[in-house]
Amino acid sequence: MKKTILFITSVLAISCSTKKEINTADMVVYNANITTLNENKPNIEALAVKDGIILATGTSKEMLKLKNDSTQIIDAQGRRIIPGLIDSHSHFLRSGLTYTRELRWDGVPTLKEGLEMIRKAAEITPEGEWVRVIGGWTPWQFKEQRLPTPQELTEASPNRPVYMQYFYSAGIVNKKGLEVLGITKDTPDPFEGRFERDAQGNPTGLMLAEPHPGIFYGKIAALPGATKAIEENSTIHMFRELARYGLTGVIDAGGGGFNYPQEYNTAEQLAADGKLPIRTSFYLFAQKPKRELQDFDAWSSANKAGKNTDPHKEHGFELDGAGEYILWEAADYENFRWERPELPDTMGKNLEPILKLLIERRWPFKIHSTYNESIQKILDVIEKVAKEKPLNGLRWSIEHGETITPETVDRIAALGGGLALQDRMVFLGDDFIERYGAEAGKYSPPLRYIYNKGIPVGMGTDGTRGGSFNPFVSLHYMITGKTASGRKIYDKDNVLTREEALRVHTIGSAWFSQEEDVKGRLKKGQYADFVILSEDYMTIPEDDITTIESVLTVVDGKPVYGAEEFTKLAPKAPELQPSWSPLTLFGSYYKKK
Ligand SMILES: [Zn+2]
Repeated sequence: MKKTILFITSVLAISCSTKKEINTADMVVYNANITTLNENKPNIEALAVKDGIILATGTSKEMLKLKNDSTQIIDAQGRRIIPGLIDSHSHFLRSGLTYTRELRWDGVPTLKEGLEMIRKAAEITPEGEWVRVIGGWTPWQFKEQRLPTPQELTEASPNRPVYMQYFYSAGIVNKKGLEVLGITKDTPDPFEGRFERDAQGNPTGLMLAEPHPGIFYGKIAALPGATKAIEENSTIHMFRELARYGLTGVIDAGGGGFNYPQEYNTAEQLAADGKLPIRTSFYLFAQKPKRELQDFDAWSSANKAGKNTDPHKEHGFELDGAGEYILWEAADYENFRWERPELPDTMGKNLEPILKLLIERRWPFKIHSTYNESIQKILDVIEKVAKEKPLNGLRWSIEHGETITPETVDRIAALGGGLALQDRMVFLGDDFIERYGAEAGKYSPPLRYIYNKGIPVGMGTDGTRGGSFNPFVSLHYMITGKTASGRKIYDKDNVLTREEALRVHTIGSAWFSQEEDVKGRLKKGQYADFVILSEDYMTIPEDDITTIESVLTVVDGKPVYGAEEFTKLAPKAPELQPSWSPLTLFGSYYKKK
């Protein structure tokens, strides 16, 4: 009898401990001000995490009941928490390889200061290397509101070559740079590009895409490479910086000169080793005109779309489809300093077989397209192909769409597509207004219409050769309609509320990697991807939104970036490599001193 009682007691004990494990959390974050984006429970005080998933949400008191001896307890001290931000259109895998060898002008307020940064960076740049300032800035952000001149770059750096690029509109090299690249009076202008020349025909150092950005691809490719170790270190720092600005997921749109699979190996290895902190979805970009069909045939034969090679987390490092170039002929260039390029008449006939292949192989696709005229032509082809080969829910999207009209948005919606927007107007909006006028800018793009339409819409940066990587710049843009110069290009009827903007940058963006059911909201069952912010996004003055950073970024239930009182919770960053990295002097996004 006694034996039986003992037996029953031990069964009870076992079931109790199992029950305890199921109901207790790995992490509890309490005393917070949490914006959940969950319609049923929009504001909460605390949340509990287990196995990378949100176990429960509620009051601090309720959540603290879920702790056990080993639960990580985090007092958010009343700070704002938001779902992790997601960049739905970026080029961070390519940027990662060069990030630590670049000088970033993101957010720098004066050209004077920018040139001083070049002078200091040149001093520590060794022989054989370049000072590079590629993307993330616009002349319109400066008090001076102009590009630097090649002469100014030469004065700032007489002995080291300097390469700078303003989006895909203009590139500038100093005298030393022209020498190293071997550009002389006798060098012919590249295809649809132009070297500015003085009266004697000597190139000044200013390079213009009129409108073809090939002029830049070639020059960037000519810059020196780095060791595998440096590229790894650089990628780690790039992704850590993304986490610092509250990103927990990114979608990578490939890029010119970024070849699959070889140049993806660095990030793939980091993901395999558990060193890629952010969920990354990537799309393959056709590298060579006229070989697109062949490349997509080979890539889609060898890989199923949706293949995740990160063993540590779901949707960790995932090949999700084709884009943003699936056909070079279908690409227009966003140089608003130059006239709109017209897509060639052969585009339709060449796009058809690629679309058919992707639909057959069930490969989601995204297509770069800036102007409404280009998008209309592309939609003509998609509509035609879809009649023959139904999309049947296959994910696809138009990316950019700065001048898209409501009618064209309706056509995308009818075909079940999405629209991935970026904050490129922050950088290029002033050029746009100069050429097309303020009236034309008011609904470029029609943000409010797109949002109200309910079509899948995501936000991103197109960083880092185009825009910056800072998602708070894109949130600020959607809320204020302002460019980098402070010019307000949209009226009240074409901006979003803070919560709507946040929704686009989280749940909206998640659609583009087929994760809208598992992330973007903070509620039971969703991924524990969230951010504790340095300032309160919901109440801070509008124009200060761009100064917000994360103080704790959690991905898959684990801290991946920490600052201030949370510094110790996250892994430390490795030393920057190379040792002369300009980031050692200035960091990345500009900070007021
Ligand atoms: Zn693009």
